[in-house]
Amino acid sequence: MEEQISDSVEELDAVIVGAGFAGMYQLYRLREAGFKTRVIEAADDVGGTWYWNRYPGARCDILTVDYSYSWDPELEKEWTWSERYATQPEILRYAQHVADKHDLRRDIQFQTRIKRAKWDEDAKRWNLLTDQGQKIAARFYIMATGCLSMPKVPDVPGADQFEGASYFTSGWPHEGVDFSGKRVAVIGTGSSGIQSIPLIAEDAAQLTVFQRTPNFSFPAHNGPVAEARLAEYQRDVNAYRQAARESLIGVPADKPSVSALEVSEEERAAVYEKVWETGELAQQIKFNDIQLNPEANETQRQFMHNKVRQIVEDPKIADLLCPTNHYIFTKRPCLDTNYYQTFNKPHVRLVDLHTQPIVSITRAGIDLGGDEPEELEFDAIVFATGFDAMTGAIVSVDIAGRDGLALRDAWSDGPQTYLGLMSAGFPNLFMITGPGSPSVLSNMMVSIEQHVEFITDTLKHLRDHGYDSIEPTALAQDRWVQHGNEFADLTLLPTANSWYMGRNVPGKPQVFLPYVGGVGRYREICDEIVDRDFLGFTLDGPEGRQSNDGVIRPVKPDMMVTLELIEEAGAPPFESVPVAEARAMAEGMGEMFPPGPEVGEIVDGTLPGADGSELEYRLYRPASPGPHPIVAYFHGGGWVLGSHSSDDPLCRDLCKQSNAIFVSINYRHAPEHRFPAAADDGLAAARWIAAHAEELGGIPGQLALAGWSAGANIAAVTAQQAKLAGGPDILGQVLLNPSVDGAMDTRSIRDNAEGYTLTTPLMTWFWDHYCDPSDRSNPKASPLRAEDLSGLPPAMVITCEFDPLRDEGDAYAAALSNAGVPVRHLQVEGHTHMSVSWVDVIVSAAFVRTEMAEATKDFFAPRH
Ligand SMILES: Cc1cc2nc3c(=O)[nH]c(=O)nc-3n(C[C@H](O)[C@H](O)[C@H](O)COP(=O)(O)OP(=O)(O)OC[C@H]3O[C@@H](n4cnc5c(N)ncnc54)[C@H](O)[C@@H]3O)c2cc1C
Repeated sequence: MEEQISDSVEELDAVIVGAGFAGMYQLYRLREAGFKTRVIEAADDVGGTWYWNRYPGARCDILTVDYSYSWDPELEKEWTWSERYATQPEILRYAQHVADKHDLRRDIQFQTRIKRAKWDEDAKRWNLLTDQGQKIAARFYIMATGCLSMPKVPDVPGADQFEGASYFTSGWPHEGVDFSGKRVAVIGTGSSGIQSIPLIAEDAAQLTVFQRTPNFSFPAHNGPVAEARLAEYQRDVNAYRQAARESLIGVPADKPSVSALEVSEEERAAVYEKVWETGELAQQIKFNDIQLNPEANETQRQFMHNKVRQIVEDPKIADLLCPTNHYIFTKRPCLDTNYYQTFNKPHVRLVDLHTQPIVSITRAGIDLGGDEPEELEFDAIVFATGFDAMTGAIVSVDIAGRDGLALRDAWSDGPQTYLGLMSAGFPNLFMITGPGSPSVLSNMMVSIEQHVEFITDTLKHLRDHGYDSIEPTALAQDRWVQHGNEFADLTLLPTANSWYMGRNVPGKPQVFLPYVGGVGRYREICDEIVDRDFLGFTLDGPEGRQSNDGVIRPVKPDMMVTLELIEEAGAPPFESVPVAEARAMAEGMGEMFPPGPEVGEIVDGTLPGADGSELEYRLYRPASPGPHPIVAYFHGGGWVLGSHSSDDPLCRDLCKQSNAIFVSINYRHAPEHRFPAAADDGLAAARWIAAHAEELGGIPGQLALAGWSAGANIAAVTAQQAKLAGGPDILGQVLLNPSVDGAMDTRSIRDNAEGYTLTTPLMTWFWDHYCDPSDRSNPKASPLRAEDLSGLPPAMVITCEFDPLRDEGDAYAAALSNAGVPVRHLQVEGHTHMSVSWVDVIVSAAFVRTEMAEATKDFFAPRH
């Protein structure tokens, strides 16, 4: 039946669901801003996570100095934590203290659950129904329902038959549990299991731990808050908090800049030992490729395995406790006190569910199958089976947005959000630390505060500007989801069977849920969205609508991060220094890049240029038996920078993938040799290679051209000159981000002028060094200007979205095609002028080189 809102319906500005740290702070802020607000909470007090999870050993795993509110300066002074990692009762007391101090409970309705939420488009409000049958109407509906608040239903048959006592770590009895003299089973070895097992073992007569997957756990070394850390915090609390906000995971920490594979084994071991001793999860990642490169990851994984083997006396048990099915840090690692040591106790047993799966829970205990069936009897079973993380609590409410769209349906293939804050089709519905935001990959206190402040400021903005609703656009949302997935895919994180991926809940769509880009970057993104007039949002009100559609981070994440690193490095622009210095800088930068794949052979030699001078070349030969077809390759560098060896990784990769010889030519450079020297050298080199194919190990008559940037200009010009001169025969041309028009008058020249490495000022500098303005309309300088492009060899033209040269490349591809030349035109989204050439750095552009190689192979394929 349709829900009818009766006259007695309570009208509020905002309803917040959940009175954990998120809901409490959100209430404080909205109340302060004058919004009539109510919190609805299922529990009978505040605290959320710390209200429900009262199992023995429950603690935070982020130092409590960091895991605390930063918005109340008085609170910062009046509250001192007793330990590095406070226990659940202490954290709960903290939450209660905040509630008392700010009189929050007067606006919190406890013991009430929101069951249904329905958007009323005409009234622009949410109609909410509680499990008490109460109806509330609110303009804004804010889900502070928690990422880890919906316990996962244990997928073990017979759980309801057990006649002994059953406990869930996520809903522990308030009065506590006495396990003395009891035979206890603990199912699950995630964080809650790892924290509780040592304490349960202290009391129980027998403890049996059922493990499906071992996790990595570090010793917490709990105790008083470290003096040095406290001093750092107290020296300047604001600066300390700000550093946390700008950090990767919401805790001040240095950004690792060294690869684990760059240092010696001894150095690595010393680093791992040192971080193991810190007992801090936030300090564990000290190498920049631990979460990216399996080989690097393996070094720390092995270190951890060794630690387990040193602690656990029985080697078979130690083996079982060593995680081998996932990389370290691809699941949330745990912090423990004596977890591994517990398995040395004679009354503690570990059951490996892979060899002895649970057949059923019975009235008396647990029946095991597999190789060694057993019937085990217990007095108590503890389920430490985790949560339906990040989406569970949200979709458990029956939410219907615009046109009755059910959130569960909209998210059937995984959560669709913009920033993890809102979802298209669900106006005025906010999620605090929702899927698509850093949330569980961070110190959540920092992420909660940032979201609360974003939501509060947004609501104030709407009110101040006469809008009554806000909603993300479909484009902004789709591209945010894509950005999040692409970012995650660069890391090892999606490879694990983790709750980050939803893989712990049968039937849950498997997508990586949190945003891996980091807390600091994410905050910048949110701030930029607001600064750009709520980019990607539609704001609607009686006086009008503002829909500022767009994409916030359109550049592929690996390229984006690389651009950020380049900017941080702060090198002067090439065009601001003398040519010699620019060349040295370019060479130095080249040396910092990975070398590219091995090829069969690399040979350096010389060939005659157009003026008879010797030009160096570098020949890349495939490892397969020859002879091979040959590609004459012209390097990038704006006719000014670079040499026959400067595109080494790119040439190696193309040589290997296309199974062709690549001959990279050191044509004459400007300003010493201005136009048309480089162009003339192109033709001279092509002729010489064609004539000497056999002695180079090539197949006579099988010659193609390739080039990147200014080198693609030379390749294109050479193809035209060869046609005009009647030879040599060129079978194809691969033009990567070609510069083909000296007029430099396109939209992409203007749109991508700055920020993507090849800038428009740099391109102007290149042209000025190379060619007089009066010569630039000559097709030998600007091949796009050629009157007749017919009869040219087949081409592959690659253009990149964020390249100033994009539009002229697109125009050349179109002009070739219009002239009847077979053209393969690849327009690469989200990439820049450099992306394709940075082999093994910009992995998301690797497919382009594969396509270039395929095109090259096609040029040489026999024609019938
Ligand atoms: C054991 C454990 C340890 C953790 N340790 C850390 C740590 O060290 N560091 C860290 O950063 N994070 C940690 N977390 C994550 C933790 O959940 C967050 O840090 C934080 O407490 C979340 O606060 P919240 O207010 O967003 O959600 P929660 O604290 O989960 O509160 C959500 C509240 O919403 C209520 N609710 C949900 N749905 C409804 C509904 N439909 N109607 C009414 N009420 C509803 C729930 O009852 C709950 O009280 C831990 C989580 C667990 C489970």
